[in-house]
Amino acid sequence: MSDKYARFVDCLRPQADLAAALSLLEWDQETYMPEGAIDGRARQIGTLASLLHERQTDPRFVELVDELATRLDSLSPEQAVDVRETKWRLDRRRALDPELVRKRSELHAQARSVWIAARESGDFGLLAPYLQHIVDLEREVAGRIDPSRPPYDVLLEEFEPGATTDGLEQVLGQLRQGLKPLIDRLRARLERGAALSRALHGHFPIEAQKRFNLMVAVSLGFDLRKGRLDEAAHPFSTSLGDDHRITTRYDVSNLTYALYSTIHETGHALYEQGLDPTAFGLPRGQSCSLGIHESQSRLWENLIGRSEAFWHYLLPLAQEHFPSLQSVTAQEALQVVTDARPSLIRTESDEITYNMHIILRFELEQAMIDGRLAVSDLPQAWAEKMQEYLGIRPHDDRAGVLQDVHWASGAIGYFPTYSLGNVYAAQMLEAAEAAVGPLGPQIERGDFHPLLDWLRRNVHRRGQALRPEELVAAATGRTSSPKALLEHLGRRVEFLES
Ligand code: ZN
Repeated sequence: MSDKYARFVDCLRPQADLAAALSLLEWDQETYMPEGAIDGRARQIGTLASLLHERQTDPRFVELVDELATRLDSLSPEQAVDVRETKWRLDRRRALDPELVRKRSELHAQARSVWIAARESGDFGLLAPYLQHIVDLEREVAGRIDPSRPPYDVLLEEFEPGATTDGLEQVLGQLRQGLKPLIDRLRARLERGAALSRALHGHFPIEAQKRFNLMVAVSLGFDLRKGRLDEAAHPFSTSLGDDHRITTRYDVSNLTYALYSTIHETGHALYEQGLDPTAFGLPRGQSCSLGIHESQSRLWENLIGRSEAFWHYLLPLAQEHFPSLQSVTAQEALQVVTDARPSLIRTESDEITYNMHIILRFELEQAMIDGRLAVSDLPQAWAEKMQEYLGIRPHDDRAGVLQDVHWASGAIGYFPTYSLGNVYAAQMLEAAEAAVGPLGPQIERGDFHPLLDWLRRNVHRRGQALRPEELVAAATGRTSSPKALLEHLGRRVEFLES
């Protein structure tokens, strides 16, 4: 069996190389590519993508995976993980015939461009028929992959393997219940006239910000020998084998804008840099799920980057880079970066209300897939839920249902992974602290290693050896629950009220 496993690895690694080359082309498109190169670039991406598809569906490779999958007990536990996960993806892929795959990607490309026009004009009616097609097609896709399970479960698993609607309803339902009184307190605080602090506003030259952001990423543990920080209109991170690229976006009048994008993307990159390099291209050497990935970015961005200890560490460094901050105190900075208030746009929302934006989307997309909500009723349902959960109503669809591209891109079942990431992150941090001792004094000194080492051992190095729920349980000793997150957010609200 071992020579068959070796042949299987020899198939997977070139696939991972092709995927990395594709990611590099896409990274370049978002960062340095001159505008006029777009047609050639689209062609290059198409060519590479079809080469990759050929390899992934090569009958010899498929046969090999099927054969290995019938003999898992003759493999080592590590090898068995690689085969099990590869087979799972392969089964999902081959359940869809090429015609359906073609129809689906064409529809998504069309819907994305219609979404841009619809958002500009604020006209949901333009997008509605495309969105209806997408919902119908995703239902069909789910039915082809596994007709025995609820369609939403099957779609969800694409992003969060092993997650179920029931499990999510439980976690997000508890989260919603716990958030409600916190949001009421935030609204009461606004009624008392809580104003936005301008302590971190001013003039922050871009060159100085670039040096500052790079210093922050490196101090958290980002390895520059195997990574870069660049600029992009929509910050993202990507991994090209053992080369990890992160991006951020600068605003000359706002220091925190780039800072928190940088910390977020650094969290993603730290995860990728912590995967087992000897398992490159194999499931054991790949990230577990979108929810686990997001737990890493949000742990660093919100739980560390918005903590008091972190600002005690960061402020003197910020003042070196930006002398105009000389008179700002750590408490003032903290007031700015933890401010929370209900708002309409998810991507601009704070750590507390953000989760309600996700819960709303989860409930609506699930209802659309189950057929309980007609696409044409979506704007109305959106507005009602915003009113109920956050106490505000969008004045038009631009500030409501048209704000995100996800559904128009066919990504249904994706949104919940953002809140799962928040839930996992708080639970992991609690477990890390129990294991390595109080993190505050370490962070104040700028010593992030004990925490990073814990994450490396308990989360990163495991790759896909465990499914997300199992990974959380193994790392924290408990099944996932929003308890730690709600306690953390409760302390935030207390601080804001003080
Ligand atoms: Zn992220």
